[in-house]
Formats: sequence, structure tokens, C-alpha cells
Amino acid sequence: MLNVIIFGAPGTGKGTQSENIIKKYKLVHLSTGDILREEMRAESQIGLAAKKFIDDGQLVPDGVIIDLLFDRAAKHKDIQGYIFDGFPRTTVQAEKLDETVERDGAPISLVLYLDVSEEELFKRIMYRSQHSGRCDDTADVVRKRIEVYKHQTYPLLDYYRKQGKLKTINGMGTIEEVFEEIEEVIDSYLGV
Ligand code: ADP
Repeated sequence: MLNVIIFGAPGTGKGTQSENIIKKYKLVHLSTGDILREEMRAESQIGLAAKKFIDDGQLVPDGVIIDLLFDRAAKHKDIQGYIFDGFPRTTVQAEKLDETVERDGAPISLVLYLDVSEEELFKRIMYRSQHSGRCDDTADVVRKRIEVYKHQTYPLLDYYRKQGKLKTINGMGTIEEVFEEIEEVIDSYLGV
């Protein structure tokens, strides 16, 4: 199993690169942002509860996200691995993920950290907002999301650095350049 976490601030291109990765390495993409947007569209109980946090740029409570993610993950059988996108975002989530994948005998292989400057993040999200239709892509909410990232999620880099799993990718290049760097890291992990 190849279990990869794609990590980075909002707007770093995690979703785009995840699409490239799943095509080449045949992994299952688990994006908590995408799952939450589906729940909101369906106006499910979880979706409606989550919307309040998302619209405000806050994280959805750990318990809700953890249940949602593992519920989705359980639907896939006989797979080559997962790419976790947007998860974990807190230490509680990271510890729960480690506990679960280790119990299943398929620990996290790599954490790909897409490194992008804060100025560039803001520009990318503002550009994306013109066509994303996302209610959380407005200037004020984006600023809040970046702050929440810095306080609650960024510290996880240290958690994975200590485990020796952290690989920093320069996220400032073109989509192709960034993917090439990702391929090098994954291929070297796989020994190809
Ligand atoms: P981005 O990559 O732009 O930050 P996402 O699509 O990953 O956006 O997430 C959108 C919103 O969904 C977040 O701002 C947060 O409110 C919520 N969310 C997504 N993943 C998580 C998570 N793992 N824990 C808590 N909230 C989450």
C-alpha cells in the first residue's frame, strides 16, 4: 500500500496535484473538502452543520470529520492506497489517522508538503473564486482560513518531520513542474 498525505495551506494546489497522482499511481482520492461540499449540496444533516463552520473559515469539529472520512474510506476495498487531501488538519486528526492506518497494517508512507508563499496563496484563491462558486472563497474568509491553517494545521509539519515522512515540494512552479517533483519523491520511495 502507498498511503500519501498531500499537505499545504489553502490554495496550494493539493486538489490539482491529487488528480495527477491518482492517475499515475492508481490511488483513491479522499478529499475532506470535496466530501463536505457534497454533503452541503445534498443538504444532509452533516452538510448543514458543517456549512456554519466552513462559511466562517473555521475547521469543522474533529469528531465530525473523522467519522465522515473513515466512513468514506471503508467503502473502498482492494485498493493500492489512498491520497489524503485536506486531512489531517489538527493533531487529533493526525493521531487518529496514524492509529487507524497502523492498525490496518498500512501506515502513512509519505507526507508531501506543497510549499507556497502566503502572498501567492491569496492570489490563487482570489483568482479561483471567480469561477469556483465556493462560499468560502471571499477575501475575508480566505484570510481567516490562512490564519486557521497557521495556528491549527501548520504545526503538523513537525509531527511528520519527527516521523521522517515529510517531503517538501516547491509549490511555486507550474502544475507540471510541481508534479515532476512529486513524481521524483514517490518514485524514489517506491524504488523505481
Ligand atoms: P482548502 O484546501 O482551500 O483549504 P478544502 O476544500 O480542503 O479547502 O476545505 C474547505 C473547508 O472545509 C475548510 O476551510 C474547513 O472548514 C473544512 N474542512 C476540510 N477538511 C477539514 C478537516 N480535515 N478538518 C476540519 N475541517 C475541514
